[in-house]
Amino acid sequence: MSLKESDQERVLAPQRRPEDDDAEPGLRPRTLDEYVGQEAIKENLRVFMQAARQRGEPLDHVLLHGPPGLGKTTLAAIIAHAMQRSLHMTSGPAIERPGDVAAILTSLQPGDVLFIDEIHRLPRVVEEILYPAMEDFRLDIVIGKGPGARSVRLDIPPFTLVGATTRAGSLTSPLRDRFGVVFRLDYYRPAELQEIVTRSARLLDVDIDAQGAAEIARRSRGTPRIANRLLRRVRDFAQVRAGGRITLAVAREALTSMAVDEMGLDSLDRRLLGTILDQFGGGPVGVETLAAAVGEEAETIEDVYEPFLLQIGFLARTPRGRMVTAAACQHLGRPFPSRRPGPGSAGAGQPVRRGEVPGEQVLF
Ligand code: ADP
Repeated sequence: MSLKESDQERVLAPQRRPEDDDAEPGLRPRTLDEYVGQEAIKENLRVFMQAARQRGEPLDHVLLHGPPGLGKTTLAAIIAHAMQRSLHMTSGPAIERPGDVAAILTSLQPGDVLFIDEIHRLPRVVEEILYPAMEDFRLDIVIGKGPGARSVRLDIPPFTLVGATTRAGSLTSPLRDRFGVVFRLDYYRPAELQEIVTRSARLLDVDIDAQGAAEIARRSRGTPRIANRLLRRVRDFAQVRAGGRITLAVAREALTSMAVDEMGLDSLDRRLLGTILDQFGGGPVGVETLAAAVGEEAETIEDVYEPFLLQIGFLARTPRGRMVTAAACQHLGRPFPSRRPGPGSAGAGQPVRRGEVPGEQVLF
């Protein structure tokens, strides 16, 4: 089974699935007070929104970036709710032609919030329509073709664009520069995820104790969407096998049976790390090569799998590619490869003996 096929079944995939938000829309926080964590972002947003309201202006355009499932869409909805305006949602790939974006922009009411997910995927021609729209609230539309073509200028209502992206680096600089506010969302700490699990359990009317919630939180890859998904799966398990109450023992058993390990890694993470160890001597390996070896898009590896593995120190990113770390080997119970250069070492690429590279730790 390729990585891609198995990803469909992946409990820990942070991307949105229909059952996540549609089944329980009530789990999505509606106000900044309900939104757990990301304290610095909340503090800034409160000030910016209050200032905009006092001036009777829409909030400045906001760019949110960070891995999937961390609450970007939720924040856009919270902004619209707090500004008492409507939220319009679309995504980069859904807007194909300049006319699509013109239709959306001309339908807005003053102060409305337009949320564009995956904004780095907007076609360039659409992006160019957005520049004057974001800056001066006007559209420059070309009507007709050839010598008879003429440009028409249309005023549009002032609005707030909230853009979300998993890769801020892929945004063109003219687009990035037009956002007055840029926030990077971080993975959540276990205590914050525990709060989210406890809140969701209350909303779903699930009986859970603190240790059960902590266990689900610890294995959720720092991601609220995954925490909520695991909670639902463990709830099923508790209902059928444990009289409905989620305790530490029930959570552990359920998560282990889903092959989610102590660090929140699932079989696919282990396979990704295993492939680097088995086929590339632990690395460094370029992301394209790695993607081909596991049958996955390089972009998906970079946006979805890698950020968490980097965050917990199981992968290292070097100019020459990705390397598995000693900590990852220890976790996987695998020997740390002996013939590997240390990150950035002068002799990178040359065979080296264990311990020869300055700073290399010999752990096994
Ligand atoms: P993104 O747009 O970054 O992929 P979402 O905003 O769709 O992520 O969030 C996924 C789910 O996680 C939401 O439906 C919500 O229930 C939950 N969630 C996200 N952020 C938070 C938070 N800070 N506090 C509580 N729940 C959250």
